[in-house]
This record gives sequence, C-alpha cells and structure tokens, in this order.
Amino acid sequence: MNLSKFKVIYKKKIDIDDFPTDYSGGFKSKEAAEKRMHKNIEKTSILQDKLYAHDKYALLIIFQAMDAAGKDGAIKHVMSGLNPQGCQVFSFKQPSAEELDHDYLWRINKSLPERGRIGIFNRSHYEEVLVVKVHDYIKYAKLPEPLINKNIWDNRYRQIRDFERYLYENGVITVKFFLHVSKAEQKKRFLKRLEDPAKNWKFSASDLKERAHWSEYKAAYEECLMNTSTKFAPWYVIPADKKWFARLAISEIIAQTLARLKPFYPKLNEEQLKNLAVYKEKLLSEK
Ligand code: ATP
Ligand code: MG
Repeated sequence: MNLSKFKVIYKKKIDIDDFPTDYSGGFKSKEAAEKRMHKNIEKTSILQDKLYAHDKYALLIIFQAMDAAGKDGAIKHVMSGLNPQGCQVFSFKQPSAEELDHDYLWRINKSLPERGRIGIFNRSHYEEVLVVKVHDYIKYAKLPEPLINKNIWDNRYRQIRDFERYLYENGVITVKFFLHVSKAEQKKRFLKRLEDPAKNWKFSASDLKERAHWSEYKAAYEECLMNTSTKFAPWYVIPADKKWFARLAISEIIAQTLARLKPFYPKLNEEQLKNLAVYKEKLLSEK
C-alpha cells in the first residue's frame, strides 16, 4: 500500500482539507483490511522481538488528533500484538504545577522509550503548539516575559525539530500520526457517546468547547505539521473517518518503519559460542 501521499512535506504549505478524512485505500470490506492489519501486527511483533534483543534503537510513536478521532482505539490495536515488556504508553494531559516549573520537554524526556522499546504518546509535546496556541495558555508557562514574543511559535517548531533530530541521531526514531477526522464524523461520534450509556463516560463538556475552536485548531495543525514534518520525524495525516482504515494505515507505517531499522538478534563471538557448547555439555551430563 502506498502511504506516502499521507506524509506531510517539510515546509510545504498545506490545507488539511486537501487530505481525505474518508478513505478505504481500495479495500472492498472492513474484513479484508483487518486481515491485512493483523498481518502487519504479526510482522511488527517479530520486529519488536528483534528490536528488544538488538537493544540499540527505540521507536517513539506519537498520536495527535481532535477529540473522538480514535486515538485510544488505534493505540489499543497497535499494542494488541506487542510484547507488553517492550512497550510503554504515556498520555499527556494539562501540565501539573511541577511540570509547569520545568521546560515543556521535561515531562516528555522522562517518558521517552528506552533502547529496544516502543514508546507510544497519546498527545505529546505538540500540545505546546496546538492547545496552548489556540487558547493562549502560554501565559501559564512561567516563561520570562521577553521570551513570550511574536516568534514564540516559530521558536517552538525549531526546538521540537532540533529535539527530534537529536533523538534520531541517538537512536530514538520518531513517527507521528495526526488522525484526521471530519467535523461531521466528530459530531456523529459525540452524539453516540451521549446516547449510548456504555459510552457516556467518554463525553466531557470540554469536548464541545474545543469543537467550537475547530478552525483555529485546523490552522494550528497546518502550521505545526508543515513546520515539524522532517525526514527525522515525519508526520502522517491519517484518514480517520473509517476507524478500520486508520488502524490499517498506522499498522502498515509502523511495520515499515521498524523494518527499515533492520534490528537483529545479537550475534555471539567465537568465545561465547564455545561457552554455549560447554554449558550444554554441563547440563547434559547432570546426574
Ligand atoms: P479522550 O479522547 O478520552 O477525551 P484526551 O486525550 O482528550 O482523551 P483528556 O483527559 O480528555 O484526554 O484531555 C487531555 C487534555 O489535556 C486535552 O484537552 C489536551 O489538549 C490537554 N493538554 C495536553 N497537554 C497540554 C498542555 N501542554 N497544555 C495544556 N493542555 C494540555
Ligand atoms: Mg478529551
């Protein structure tokens, strides 16, 4: 499947509406897509095992989206075939008082995956150029006043680019998904959450508050994506009106990204191999 059309090109101006929200990728049925997704998950699981044994690279997967775009479900599916020992998920909410007493990457740094592991971020440092920009929360960031100037967002894009490049050059490979849901589909999903007792808990009053800022979020996402989709940490705009397609596309990109790293089981040197033979003999000669 060619997913390069969903990749954002660095510094190329985008209108997010030019990216599809409703897309099936040529799959005739949900079942066919799910079959393919399970194949990808199997591949990913084998690669994860090697990633863990190799213990050099880490993979960081970032999810950003408007509410009800399906982040949680996508994460659940991505995780489903993985060895939990080699996988961590972190969700980023409004920063705590302690977090606000540090630079904004402090809490991110603390949550980065260790070598050999896959780390998943449900929201991320990108909130710092999205919700913070849309609601002008920068005033709570405790920054020195001269640093809050007209360059603040461009500076943050640069800081994020540099940070992700630094990670890349240290073996932490980042891949970023924006789950692209239409405003109409979001409305449908909110209504479902309001009507279905099993889903009521998922709805929060702030969801409607954020929906009212749709066009500001759209603009913030466009700026953010084009300024931070680098070759070191690309953004993919994933059509998310059909959950099964979003999950398939994500599973495909993750499998491809891991495969490119070519992780391998550590090879033993001659002496270690000799030792194995000795250990084996010892075990076999046990009385
Ligand atoms: P759900 O889909 O279940 O609603 P969620 O990711 O929206 O999941 P919530 O607990 O509803 O989780 O919301 C977390 C909130 O925290 C979001 O509204 C997000 O914008 C906000 N948030 C995250 N990081 C920051 C930040 N750095 N500054 C301000 N708000 C933030
Ligand atoms: Mg929410």
